[in-house]
Amino acid sequence: MEKRTFLERMSERGTLVLDGATGTNLQSRGLTKGLPAEVWVLEQPEKIIGLAQDFVAAGADIILTCTFGASSIRLEHTSLNGKGEMVNRRAAELAQRAVEGTPALVAGSIGPTGQLLKPLGPLDETDAIRSFAEQARYLADAGVDLLVVETQFDLAEAKAALTGIQMVTNLPVVCSFSFDRGTRTMMGVKPAQVGNEISPLGVAAIGINCGRSLEDNQKAMIELRDSTSLPIWFKPNAGLPQLDASGNPTYDISPEAMAAKVPEWISIGAKLIGGCCGTSPDHLAAIAKEVHKSQLFPSR
Ligand SMILES: [Zn+2]
Repeated sequence: MEKRTFLERMSERGTLVLDGATGTNLQSRGLTKGLPAEVWVLEQPEKIIGLAQDFVAAGADIILTCTFGASSIRLEHTSLNGKGEMVNRRAAELAQRAVEGTPALVAGSIGPTGQLLKPLGPLDETDAIRSFAEQARYLADAGVDLLVVETQFDLAEAKAALTGIQMVTNLPVVCSFSFDRGTRTMMGVKPAQVGNEISPLGVAAIGINCGRSLEDNQKAMIELRDSTSLPIWFKPNAGLPQLDASGNPTYDISPEAMAAKVPEWISIGAKLIGGCCGTSPDHLAAIAKEVHKSQLFPSR
């Protein structure tokens, strides 16, 4: 089967469905809290494939690789130090196996380095660029369909990521920020700044993931939309976690409650919709159903 590429699918009418959370779902499937999800790429590959397959079955058009924390800088502080190439390649292969025989595409996930750039932190810009370039090359060589720089909070680090990526590949890139102080990122960046400063940098879409409440994320999306002409990627949390009696995070926004917002998100301008922390395959299935309904009965 000849797959339509990411850019082909983006040029078509309608909304694309992304996947749900990686970390919180793997934790509910037994991943020890505090352990990087990437450990399971090597140790429990069938669990990584299983989650991705559940998202595809739920209706995802695009799934992300389990490589959010797989930059060499971030792996340095884990048991996977020095295994960046292996983790990124294997994770891409696992995602590809999960979408085999379906039209779904694989996005290589690239998260923040976990360190602040100088002068606020210890990280040299050139080291950051090198680390992002390296991870992008591993993922691109493994054949992912696009790259997603996600959960960004600092404009300078996001720009370093895009610089590094564009040095090594022509794959389409999405850049997504987390407004986890409501409509500001941890570093105080506003959606309009993201729209103004990231849009001209050759990205295929720009977006929001994680964050705080659905209401705040929606407000942030409106501000972002008003500052960019690029397609919008929207992957909000299922709210903020509450800890249950055994200290495990639970998310109280139900699949139905989250899916009920989908028509509004589409009318604001979201072109790609999925979920972040707390979004289970059930949430995703409910979201996908709403997206498909809106395609059959477009309101505009
Ligand atoms: Zn999240």
